Amino acid sequence: MRSHTGDLRRRLWCMREQKTAKSWQLHRDFVLDADRSRWLHDGTVTGRRTTTERPWASPGALLDLIRQGAATTRADLVDVTGLARSTVSQRVDQLLADRLLVEVGEGPSTGGRPPTLLEFNRDAGVILAADLGATHSRLAITNLMAEPLGVVATDRPIADGPEAVLTWVETAFDDLLVEAGSSPSDVKGVGIGLPGPVEFASGRAVAPPIMPGWDGYEVRDRLAERFAAPCLVDNDVNIMAMGEWWKMPDPVDDFLYVKIGTGIGSGLILGGRLHRGFDGAAGDIGHIQAGATDVLCRCGKHGCLEASAGGGALARTLTAAGHDAADTRDVVRLVRSGDTDAIQAVQDAGRLIGSVIATVVNMLNPAIIMIGGDLAGAGVELMARIREVVYRRSTALSTGHLRILPAALGDDAGIVGAAALVIEHVLSPEAVDSTLALTKGGSS
Ligand SMILES: [Zn+2]
Repeated sequence: MRSHTGDLRRRLWCMREQKTAKSWQLHRDFVLDADRSRWLHDGTVTGRRTTTERPWASPGALLDLIRQGAATTRADLVDVTGLARSTVSQRVDQLLADRLLVEVGEGPSTGGRPPTLLEFNRDAGVILAADLGATHSRLAITNLMAEPLGVVATDRPIADGPEAVLTWVETAFDDLLVEAGSSPSDVKGVGIGLPGPVEFASGRAVAPPIMPGWDGYEVRDRLAERFAAPCLVDNDVNIMAMGEWWKMPDPVDDFLYVKIGTGIGSGLILGGRLHRGFDGAAGDIGHIQAGATDVLCRCGKHGCLEASAGGGALARTLTAAGHDAADTRDVVRLVRSGDTDAIQAVQDAGRLIGSVIATVVNMLNPAIIMIGGDLAGAGVELMARIREVVYRRSTALSTGHLRILPAALGDDAGIVGAAALVIEHVLSPEAVDSTLALTKGGSS
């Protein structure tokens, strides 16, 4: 988690810093990363500034340096920020008082008294996370590293409508809190994934095709009020992409997550950030035209990728051929049992999906593509065809370092991602600083 969280944060600082730097004439602290055409803080602050208002030296920013592994002691923080030792100590004390940091013993001595090691306190609060699917949902309570402390899964149709579903979610969250031994005041935030388009800024579902009654419903406001904590709502594929990305052992800045279930969708991490697009509609690859042009899609248009290659489409094709296949999981079961019709159908779907992914690769040049969703359970029959087409049809430069992998987190990707989304929000330097200012009556 640490390195790419750090990258993400560092970039956010840089964006803000560019603005601030202009007014302060402090360009010397920024270097142009020529490979990426981005301005970056070079991390070697020369000369101490007199102002104490440098955003990267606030208490929240010091916490961030520790979370990303750039510092483990007060002396490290002094070195990295150029702040006075007394200022660092005072800000660290604030973070210790708020339990966001803990002291965890002593580091190696460099001659004098051994330094006290500082660590981010992953147990300084809990996150409530829900991955609400079309038919199955998964809820969790996690610590501040998005590690689940308790999980509940159920088959509950989203089509029951927001009132019934969210009442159940609230009750289940209450139970998870009790089981984890946490109180409502421990809740730092709530993250929700919905199986349809979401207007991220307002936290509402927008004209979701498979979610009757949810259009415009104030999901975010309802849960934020109920749990007296910030709530973020995003679509299910975005949170799965976020979860897989956050837990990558060796994270990359440019990542494509493709979910192949009943339908097909994708989540994009570009330049170290979740890319939602202007209206939150980015990544909707299931409705790119590919395959038979006369097949009607559930979106109302003809010839969409998912209308030919989604798990729902394959189940219908196999049913028409006399097989017992009600849904994607049945398709996977048939493939695993060696059914030649099912294997053929999945291979054809893999090639078609691969052709669309190849276009995305040429356009966006991701370093890693992960394939998840129920149909990914078909394993090599699907993956091999996707790989074959992507490598054949994408440019040599864009596939030079490309890795196409099966998703790693399985069913937990959504809850981990929903929690991670909220953690990045509530532990951002700005959010930490404003929380400290509120609780302590003002921070220096
Ligand atoms: Zn469509």
